[in-house]
Amino acid sequence: MGTIEFKQVSKKYKENAGYALKDFTLQVKEGELVVIVGSSGSGKSTLLELICGFEALTSGDILIDGQSIQDQLPKDRNVSMVFQNYALLPHLTVYENIAFGMRIRKESKQQIDEKVRWAAALLELEPYLKVKPKKLSGGQRQRVALARAMVRKPKLFLMDEPLSSLDAKLRDNMSTQIKALHEKLHATMLYVTHDQIEAMTMADRLVILDQGKIQQIGSPLEIYHQPKNLFVAQFIGRPSINLFECRRTEFGILLDEAIEPRVNENLLEKNQDYKLGIRSEHIEIDAEKETHLVALLEKVEYLGSETLLHLKYKNCKFVAKNYNDKIFKVGDAIKVHFNLTKAHYFDNQQERVSGGK
Ligand code: ADP
Repeated sequence: MGTIEFKQVSKKYKENAGYALKDFTLQVKEGELVVIVGSSGSGKSTLLELICGFEALTSGDILIDGQSIQDQLPKDRNVSMVFQNYALLPHLTVYENIAFGMRIRKESKQQIDEKVRWAAALLELEPYLKVKPKKLSGGQRQRVALARAMVRKPKLFLMDEPLSSLDAKLRDNMSTQIKALHEKLHATMLYVTHDQIEAMTMADRLVILDQGKIQQIGSPLEIYHQPKNLFVAQFIGRPSINLFECRRTEFGILLDEAIEPRVNENLLEKNQDYKLGIRSEHIEIDAEKETHLVALLEKVEYLGSETLLHLKYKNCKFVAKNYNDKIFKVGDAIKVHFNLTKAHYFDNQQERVSGGK
């Protein structure tokens, strides 16, 4: 299995167009599962196409196992791709779909049979080997596509939104299976998705991409608790992080020109404006702690293990998470305490300057 390294990889599709990918630099260790997450147009497919060799780099380099792949033909790069739409051949059985690439490479019958059965056992596909794809569920089809990728024993697996056409329950199930497979095979995997929840659950490391540029690289928890900038803070986490305009005054932090929690953030410059970001689980309600403000309850979402309270204070709307079984009524006045040790402060360049301890 391989390592892959990106050295300032940039791609422009046309001379006078903007960069689809700019200075993408990343080292993926052997056996690591790195998830690249970004919204549509952020450059995810471009990255995969550059690795596969379907597109040429504008500048920079990509190395697999320490060797530049730029002069290698796509078929020689030894990477296997699993797509969103499975790309199975409908007239062939599951067995023949898994065996297809090996037959083209003229591997021996015995070798093919061994590998098909090995992959089918790992992915619990043995009962379906004689069946054609149309008889299978979406999850089973995706497992066939994974098996087909596995039998190549590639240096690198590339997964292009492999779960996005499955329904929510199957998606959970498949993401667990892919993660388990990754652990069993100790495979190096680059996994691309627009879905931040999928990204958080799958990744050893996450790469957040926006408009062709890496915004942050880190473990899911690092990124959640220590977002580098406002974009990352808003992109990761549901419900989305709450944001307030704030000003560091002589006395503490002034929120939305109204309240003044007496917390000193010494790292913030006095009389400067910041955006304060705080996650819903760090806004406590009816707590026996100091009340920072009293907000109007506009909407309640009971999710079972927790309740989301949509609150309004002056012009600020925000969401607090509550973990007890209390029943709330829309229109209630709710006492709110901000756990400000968990708040993040962003400057006018949208960089995080402080907070999130
Ligand atoms: P994603 O996969 O994250 O949706 P893409 O890599 O497809 O993003 O696109 C990144 C940027 O590159 C977008 O602005 C897109 O319009 C542009 N782009 C992608 N493919 C091409 C192409 N073949 N020709 C010109 N521009 C392209």
